[in-house]
Amino acid sequence: MKSLDQLYDELQSANADSLGYPAAKDFDYAEIERFLNFPINNIGDPFAQGTYRVHTRECEREVVAFFAEATRAPQDDWWGYVTNGGTEGNLYGLYLARELHPDGIVYYSEATHYSVSKNLHFLGMRHIMIRAQENGEIDYDDLLETLKIHRDRPPIIFANIGTTMTEARDDIGRIVEMMDRLAIRERYIHSDAALVGGYAAYLDPRPAWDFADGADSVAISGHKFLGAPIPCGIVIARKHNVQRIARSIDYIGSLDTTITGSRSGFSPLMLWYRLQQLGEAGLRERLGRSLANAGYLVERLTAIGIPAWRNPNAITVVIPRADAAIQQRWQLATAGDISHVLVLPNVSREQIDTFVADVAKSRTEDACKA
Ligand SMILES: *Cc1c(COP(=O)(O)O)cnc(C)c1O
Repeated sequence: MKSLDQLYDELQSANADSLGYPAAKDFDYAEIERFLNFPINNIGDPFAQGTYRVHTRECEREVVAFFAEATRAPQDDWWGYVTNGGTEGNLYGLYLARELHPDGIVYYSEATHYSVSKNLHFLGMRHIMIRAQENGEIDYDDLLETLKIHRDRPPIIFANIGTTMTEARDDIGRIVEMMDRLAIRERYIHSDAALVGGYAAYLDPRPAWDFADGADSVAISGHKFLGAPIPCGIVIARKHNVQRIARSIDYIGSLDTTITGSRSGFSPLMLWYRLQQLGEAGLRERLGRSLANAGYLVERLTAIGIPAWRNPNAITVVIPRADAAIQQRWQLATAGDISHVLVLPNVSREQIDTFVADVAKSRTEDACKA
């Protein structure tokens, strides 16, 4: 094993160049480092009392309340907790849906995050994959035709609010309308807003993604748009649904409503601190900067002949599959014939210029070799 100093230097340099994954880096948690001195554990339900007093449930409740407001959750009918990330939030939403509709069928598009099919496998839920459009959004015609065939089973819609590769947003309003027209009353909608949930509430126009639009649960990652050194997330659901599956456990003196037993108490503190520092104004400012810079990146790439594009109001810029050296240096996630760049708030114009110059250079080199 290398020395800690070597490891630190490696991480520092890798971190400086990474542009391809949705992890914001503009954070500073030095002020809360001292809390690492305690075995903090938020075991059990964040809204219940427990016997273990080394916890940060108060922070956790405030974090959940912040996102309950951002997702327009119904007054007095929401519940949630801080998860280990978007994947756990999605697992929770699907678990809840299964308990409420044991004979339901999950519909999700082919652009859905890879972790979801594993979740469906864990839960043993019947599922049908729906085609995606070119931009990554669900194919509404395919969804409609498929729903029509299975009208005897409650649909559980797994909506992508920002697909991983192209940040496409399925329109929950449109899906609700579709189910209304088919007179499908028994149904469930989960909103996977891993990245976009950090700012969807501040977009104009606002995407149809939240509780007021028809979602029954929403999962958001904390380490993506907000930024954190430890993966974390938030899940929110309608409280009356959660109450139907809650169980009281003597051993911890609390309710076993969460997926894992022991839960990080540091992550809720981190998210709470981050929200205190930024506030809604800070989130809006970071979003504005990211959107402007994403537009700038598309412009610059287009100017050198690269057909870059992005979905409306997206901070994800899609480019044709980057060559191996570019993928490696900038750590670009690549799937099939596309790669993407995540223009998070930490990405500066200067870094964009360096990246574009690097892409231009690699194209010239390729042309010379050919
Ligand atoms: C990142 C992502 C996930 C998984 O979230 P983690 O926080 O990495 O667990 C799920 N869905 C989408 C659309 C994502 O982009």
